[in-house]
Amino acid sequence: MTSPAGVVVVGGGQAGFSVVSMLRASGYSGPVTVFAAEPHLPYQRPPLSKKAHTEPDGLRVELVPESFYGERDIDLRLGDDVVALDTAARTVLTRAGTRLSYDHLVLATGANNRRLPVPGAELAGVHALRPLDDALTIGRALETARDVVVVGGGFIGLELARVALARGARVTVVELADRLLSRAVSPELEPRLRERHERAGVRVLTGTAVQALEGAGRVDRVVTSHGVLPADLVVYRIGAVPRDELAREAGLEVADGVVVDEQLRSVTDPRVSAVGDCARHPHPHAEGLVRLESVQNAIDQGALVGRRIAGSPAAYESLPWFWSDQGDVKLQMAGLRSASDEVLLVPGESPERLAAYAFRAGRLVAVETLNWPAEHLAARRLLERHTPVSAADLAGTTLRALARARRTAEVRA
Ligand SMILES: Cc1cc2nc3c(=O)[nH]c(=O)nc-3n(C[C@H](O)[C@H](O)[C@H](O)COP(=O)(O)OP(=O)(O)OC[C@H]3O[C@@H](n4cnc5c(N)ncnc54)[C@H](O)[C@@H]3O)c2cc1C
Repeated sequence: MTSPAGVVVVGGGQAGFSVVSMLRASGYSGPVTVFAAEPHLPYQRPPLSKKAHTEPDGLRVELVPESFYGERDIDLRLGDDVVALDTAARTVLTRAGTRLSYDHLVLATGANNRRLPVPGAELAGVHALRPLDDALTIGRALETARDVVVVGGGFIGLELARVALARGARVTVVELADRLLSRAVSPELEPRLRERHERAGVRVLTGTAVQALEGAGRVDRVVTSHGVLPADLVVYRIGAVPRDELAREAGLEVADGVVVDEQLRSVTDPRVSAVGDCARHPHPHAEGLVRLESVQNAIDQGALVGRRIAGSPAAYESLPWFWSDQGDVKLQMAGLRSASDEVLLVPGESPERLAAYAFRAGRLVAVETLNWPAEHLAARRLLERHTPVSAADLAGTTLRALARARRTAEVRA
């Protein structure tokens, strides 16, 4: 009998970690190897844009200590990236020259920042934000930066804008679209979010294009379609592109992400799975295939694949949810809203709370909240159970109160 080649995971981020920890928790006893391009132990990214950090020791982001891997016989190869797949021979080849066979391959390669396509983007003082090393560099730059320009008014840009503000800088957010978070939050909620950032002191320029970054070796101004902004630090985050190049080169179907089925297996080769930011997948809450960039999605998809390989297959149906901490604003979302949904904006009992409920064909499908975690949790519980909720059900009440009333009625029945 030949010994099993085991599971090879490409990518040591949130999703790759979830795969290997669930494999062992589910009793899988074959070889498990993770190739991780970065030199760091697998870590969480959310703190990178939310914490005013300066020293590596001040930012504890590792998911688990190093001993976790050894104790579970997980072979973690840091600083070695996979450069080619051979799906016919079932092998991977790494930059360091290792060739390894697999029974199952999991792609957990994440996404890359979109580059800023303007002259001057390579100047000193201009940073993207994704790997831990960028966050540490930005943290150090914030010690002295006076004028910070954040290019891109998405979650990460807004989080970083508020970190810079808290560190005493003057901050301008430049966004090409005519509103902040244009792809992510409803147009009904956005003005209220923008108002809070502006009230805190962030200057927001929407409908504004960055045309060039200028300075003698180091950035000192940003040329936009609405004038020139002084800047000694520029941070940009203008979207991400999935790292699906290995899959594409190996002949697997790729369409802005590795295309997988409801069990997250490549539609071209069921021995290959893809999870996290790099996977494009069907979802019962979505119309068509989706690619999600969130911690929830990375953890739940990794766990689902880990359990499947260990012998318990299931379809991926987890409710999508997300959070973003932007200074004094906690934005949370549950479910997937589409542009044609009807949105009802409802204030909470205290002025900082707000909820946007999205309805499709008269039924609640997604909820966005500002500073209202209890309402977010109630939304998750109701949406997870596919409990029907209409706009009329919400008249004069909250989801939290509605969920409680329905539970009481169930107990009495
Ligand atoms: C700054 C920041 C803040 C965020 N904040 C939030 C938040 O508040 N809430 C939320 O829900 N989500 C947040 N996210 C998104 C969330 O972190 C991601 O969705 C999640 O990390 C995706 O996990 P992943 O494993 O798919 O990808 P990643 O965590 O990006 O990991 C992929 C890893 O694979 C490695 N890799 C790629 N190619 C190869 C290769 N060929 N060989 C070996 N290794 C390879 C990469 O180097 C990387 O380390 C944030 C993201 C960022 C960047």
